[in-house]
Amino acid sequence: MAATKSYKFKAEVNKLLDILVHSLYTNKEIFLRELISNSSDALDKIRFQLTSGTDVQDKDLPLEINIDLDKDKKLLVISDTGIGMTQEEIVKNIGTIAKSGSEDFLNKLSEESKEKDISNIIGRFGVGFYSVFMVAEKVVITSRSYLPDAKPVRWESTGTGSFKVSELDEDIKRGTKIEVYLKEDEKEYAEKYRVESIIKKHSNFIAFPIKINGEKVNTVSAIWREPKSSIKKEQYEEFYKFLTYDTEPPLDTIHISIDAPVQFNSIMFIPQRTFDLFGISKEDIGLDLYVRGVLIQHKNSDLLPEYLGFIKGMVDSPDIPLNISRETLQENRVVMKISQTLVKQVLSYLEKKAKNDPEHYAKFWKAHGKVFKLGYTDFANLERIAELMRFNSSANDDAEGLTSFAEYVERAKPDQKEIYYLSGPSREAVESDPHLEIFKRKGVEVLYLYEPVDEFVMTGLGSYKKDYKFVAVEQADLAKLDKLEDVTTSEEKVDELSSGEEKVFNKLLDKIKDILGDRVKEVRVSKRLQDSPSCLVSPDGEMTSHMQKIMHIMNKDTSVPQKVFEINKDHKLTRNLLKIYKNNPKDPFIEEAVEQMYESALLLEGYLTDPHKLVNRINDVLLKSSEWHPENK
Ligand code: ADP
Repeated sequence: MAATKSYKFKAEVNKLLDILVHSLYTNKEIFLRELISNSSDALDKIRFQLTSGTDVQDKDLPLEINIDLDKDKKLLVISDTGIGMTQEEIVKNIGTIAKSGSEDFLNKLSEESKEKDISNIIGRFGVGFYSVFMVAEKVVITSRSYLPDAKPVRWESTGTGSFKVSELDEDIKRGTKIEVYLKEDEKEYAEKYRVESIIKKHSNFIAFPIKINGEKVNTVSAIWREPKSSIKKEQYEEFYKFLTYDTEPPLDTIHISIDAPVQFNSIMFIPQRTFDLFGISKEDIGLDLYVRGVLIQHKNSDLLPEYLGFIKGMVDSPDIPLNISRETLQENRVVMKISQTLVKQVLSYLEKKAKNDPEHYAKFWKAHGKVFKLGYTDFANLERIAELMRFNSSANDDAEGLTSFAEYVERAKPDQKEIYYLSGPSREAVESDPHLEIFKRKGVEVLYLYEPVDEFVMTGLGSYKKDYKFVAVEQADLAKLDKLEDVTTSEEKVDELSSGEEKVFNKLLDKIKDILGDRVKEVRVSKRLQDSPSCLVSPDGEMTSHMQKIMHIMNKDTSVPQKVFEINKDHKLTRNLLKIYKNNPKDPFIEEAVEQMYESALLLEGYLTDPHKLVNRINDVLLKSSEWHPENK
């Protein structure tokens, strides 16, 4: 007997085991799904070696998974004829968490334990093996690698702190056997009916035979190879849940069979919600790729562009060579052709939904619009993608409403060749933005953009149907808007300034510029304001304030850009300042008011880093106005 070595689990594994063993999870049965899935992966790998002509240990073994149950011994044994592990591999694979982001994952897991159903998070992060310790008091693994001169190895642990590994003297066949010694409370997992029902529920689509005590139990195989008309909705749902571990059914199912230019079948699902938990979404992207029913690659990310990354599913094509390596897959022309066809099919599907069932399409957009918008970089399909985009708009009743560019254009003013937009964190914020005031007054629709990516989308698209330019409200040609009739009437008409007053007013503007100095580029009269006394505007030709802010954040730049300070000439505050200025140009209130107006504008633009002065000033003003309050007698 070779020497046995003892190893300590890595800290993160101990933490994981601790959470798994001590939390009262429901749905412990998923441990079996995880073990079967590992076996299935190991079988996929050996099949690939076999088709590539590698010299493989026990090359004539049937590729299958066997489960043996012994009720009296409370023992469940799962064995596969997969790729196996060497001693070195077993120590490395089972004893650490290889995936990055395990810290986040563990935090998420301990939060989730309140919910008590962790089945989908465990499987998706890929720490499946350890879930066996939810039901086992001891686990023994014996494995023989496919490499002809590798020695069989034995691994044993009770899941508390350490594991033992030794080389085996006996000669065993290729593959991995896992003996699960069940805890007293979990002995149901040695019952055939129980294990069979778990397999039917979670592992029915595994492409290798699964046998319990010698009897095959998984029945379903490649549903995509059956005629579409014979597949029931429940079957699709079952397949979707098998693929994604989602507990909800999919929002949409797209099943296609194509004969030219490349022959392939594909089933694609659009989930009801996004899966971006703890930043593992990148690894989660892609479609499973099969060749004649044989799985070649899990989650191949070349089959769909990033902006369709929310789609789950598979592709099966006889036109790809079985023994193709992952590296050459990327440049494979067949894969590229399939990808192009898939994109076109998905876009057609979405177009139909958008046209015939807008409510359903809105659900899709709410769940995946954020990702789909990235399609503004797909130049080959740009026009179709633009038609599928949706944004909230001033013409919608609330923040839930969605508007397409086509709808916008239909509602636009005669001769309007611009699609105006304004960015902000929420509808409330956007609607109180001073830049919007002239658009409200003229009844010109504005798209509201709430997400950082949106302005990139607008600048990326440039125009809609080449005729309508996307323009940020801040950069609108105000002369064009000025020509339009007002749709709202202002309550009070303000008097025009006399020419003498105009002169004084111009001096006041100079004074304001003196007060603000280099902090602003220019002080000028605003054409866009109605309710606000002042606002900041980017100088002509520069990027919009919102874009500037994104760049600032990206560059970790905290400086305040030099902008144009616009004054609403007809605002009561301005008129009062004018009177004060006329009587005493040196009155300190003017400076105080200008500072306050400027800082308020900065605050709205998100640039005010130190609010102390502003708050002190406001308190001052409040104090004064309370002293003058009529009820303060
Ligand atoms: P994941 O399967 O997501 O990588 P696991 O914790 O379930 O995470 O498994 C860790 C690793 O152990 C696997 O990646 C694989 O290399 C190895 N492994 C587990 N089960 C088997 C098996 N039955 N045959 C061969 N290797 C296995």
